[in-house]
Amino acid sequence: MVASNPVAGHLDSLLGINEKGEGAARALAPVLMPGAPLDQTYDYLVPEGLVIEPGAFVLVPFGPQTRIGVVWDAPLGGSDRPLDPKKMKALTERLDVPALPLSSLKFAEWIANYTLAPLGMVVRMMMSAQAAFEPVKPRFGVRHVPDAADPPRMTPARKRALDLARDGLIRAKSALATEAACSTGVVDGLVASGNLVEVVIPERRYPVPNADHRVTDFTREQAEAVHALVSAVDGGGFSVSLLDGVTGSGKTEVYYEAVAETLRKGQQALIMLPEIALTGQFMNRFVARFGCLPAEWHSALSPAERGRVWRAAATGEARVVVGARSGLFLPYSDLGLIIVDEEHDAGFKQDDRVHYQARDMSVVRGSLGKFPVVLASATPSIESHVNARTGRYRHIILPGRFTGAELPEVKPIDMRAHPPEKGQWLSPVLVDAVAATLADRQQSLLFLNRRGYAPLTLCRSCGHRFECPQCTAWLVEHRFRRRLNCHHCGFSLPIPETCPKCGEEGSLVACGPGVERVAEEVRERFPEARVALLSSDLIPGLEEMRRIIGSIESGEVDIIIGTQIVAKGHNFPLLATVGIVDGDLGLSMGADPRAGERTFQLLHQVTGRAGRALTKGRGFIQTHMPEHPVMEAIISGDREMFLDREIDMRRRGVLPPFGRLAALVISARDKDLAETFAREVARRAPRVDQIEVLGPAEAPISIVRGRHRWRLLVKAPRDKNIQGFLRAWGDALPKIGGDLRLTVDIDPYNFL
Ligand code: ADP
Ligand code: ZN
Repeated sequence: MVASNPVAGHLDSLLGINEKGEGAARALAPVLMPGAPLDQTYDYLVPEGLVIEPGAFVLVPFGPQTRIGVVWDAPLGGSDRPLDPKKMKALTERLDVPALPLSSLKFAEWIANYTLAPLGMVVRMMMSAQAAFEPVKPRFGVRHVPDAADPPRMTPARKRALDLARDGLIRAKSALATEAACSTGVVDGLVASGNLVEVVIPERRYPVPNADHRVTDFTREQAEAVHALVSAVDGGGFSVSLLDGVTGSGKTEVYYEAVAETLRKGQQALIMLPEIALTGQFMNRFVARFGCLPAEWHSALSPAERGRVWRAAATGEARVVVGARSGLFLPYSDLGLIIVDEEHDAGFKQDDRVHYQARDMSVVRGSLGKFPVVLASATPSIESHVNARTGRYRHIILPGRFTGAELPEVKPIDMRAHPPEKGQWLSPVLVDAVAATLADRQQSLLFLNRRGYAPLTLCRSCGHRFECPQCTAWLVEHRFRRRLNCHHCGFSLPIPETCPKCGEEGSLVACGPGVERVAEEVRERFPEARVALLSSDLIPGLEEMRRIIGSIESGEVDIIIGTQIVAKGHNFPLLATVGIVDGDLGLSMGADPRAGERTFQLLHQVTGRAGRALTKGRGFIQTHMPEHPVMEAIISGDREMFLDREIDMRRRGVLPPFGRLAALVISARDKDLAETFAREVARRAPRVDQIEVLGPAEAPISIVRGRHRWRLLVKAPRDKNIQGFLRAWGDALPKIGGDLRLTVDIDPYNFL
């Protein structure tokens, strides 16, 4: 009830309304407008007889429009608003949608405060299931009518359909037609003859996963880890555990026990995975452990499915949700555990509208909701390592692989000493290793984190290079699709026959390799091998991805060539050899403080795919700098040495997690406008001891979609209030109008 909250109660008494709000013709509700770039609520009168509580979704008049609003638990901002009831509008109705729980409201406020995103935008993220806000459309199916006389004309098709329907189940017309191998016209005919009747198909419900469906036998080390996690769930309260174990050590099996314990307590659990790791493999393992599928949440869901998951999270019907980062914002009625698998993955950072890091926000959610959070990875982030070392997180280590298989031996291939043949990208050393693996009837994986055929195309005759007309970027050749594409804005053109500059025919040459080019080389060298090319732009969706992963698992593929989508959580039991085509690729990322860490994680994850089950795997890294510390750490397998060095560098540089960063990106179509404004922004930076403002500097990708971009970077020690600093700065800025744009990114992961 509105009256149950102190501030609204205060307003009520001003307006002379009783405590309970009963018959409260003029009770007031503070309403937030999701989707609007606003932090404040607006007061609306609550019509008599309408019961609303904080979190309820309501329709309200807002200017000339009617909008969906969320009743907040207290008025926010705009304290100078008039309290003249005559000027106030009443909310129109309450939507038949479960209210956002109070925990969601508090979480939204926290995120808005931390990321500096308007609260309205954060709450909009919590509603990303349009269908949940529309009335559920009943779906119709057909059921057999037992006592009806046979249809006048009994064709074989009619007989097949009737025989199937005799089991009494309700089926969609199309489903029955498919099963009976007849047209839907046949089904319609049986409805007309009264042998089938149309009925509403009941909405599917999520089955309840069974905590004790299967009992897992754990090794001693695993059992200790299970015990630690289960007692964290049992004891209740907020805690963070870092589950740190090599690939194949059984982290998934171990954290499933924490999920089971949460189920036993009657609470909900969320397992977050990088989007691309949400494969059938993971779901099958879940079914094996819990006896049924979890609710899934990812971008490939149909709108209706999204609506169903959203509602089921709110009602508590969905006990376990397995999802991508936005699964964090579902309206869980009683969330009791979050698992963040592959917690180091940069895909947990959203760089669009609300800039948030889902791993970090999970920890916040756990702390607000007072429940445990588990971060799992074979290569935890430096941030999590530091938190584990300082004791802020519980550090749970799984030292070896469950199968006892050893981690692959990783060798550098010095490309200066063993260069590939001209126009090729694989060193003879790597070619020999793949050939040997093929001869042993085992799988090889070649990894290159670059989509397309070639990163640059130029004219042999005049030297013309193909550049995106709207971005500072070369166009990437995608030979399979016969196009040149910009990976920043999506600009695309067919590969021309002649050079647009000098008109020479057939003069275009591809420079450098992408995965498609490596695949071409492999197909030429190993024509008998079965090759699978995994690149996000070639695979239309998660379903297709699941199919390909399945065929790799079952040994229908000899050589896998892929971008980073192969690095994420897949388990390829037959994989024996892994080759990194360009180990140096990530290390040249100039300003990015995480470049070394990310390269280490990626190379370690990819090489770690080898030899998980039967054989000892081998990893090869093609590099021009085998003496680079990151390369040495991967090759020697000395993770602690790498961590010590990396942590020390971060500490000395006051970089995350020892310091906080915020990036400001200023952009405009007009080059001078962007630059002038960026300099103005810099000039108006407040002066605060120990907080550094670097820049403005032209962004490394200085033009994207025709917008000129400038960057500023704020560096502050951990204990400084960087949000307060940025707010004060924002207040000191001239109004940003017209074509100018300023985005603020707290804890940036992207420095381009
Ligand atoms: P991680 O998540 O650390 O990569 P997984 O949980 O995927 O490791 O385990 C690797 C493989 O070993 C999986 O096939 C898993 O089913 C199996 N496994 C791990 N621990 C056990 C166990 N205690 N009993 C049976 N199988 C296990
Ligand atoms: Zn572009």
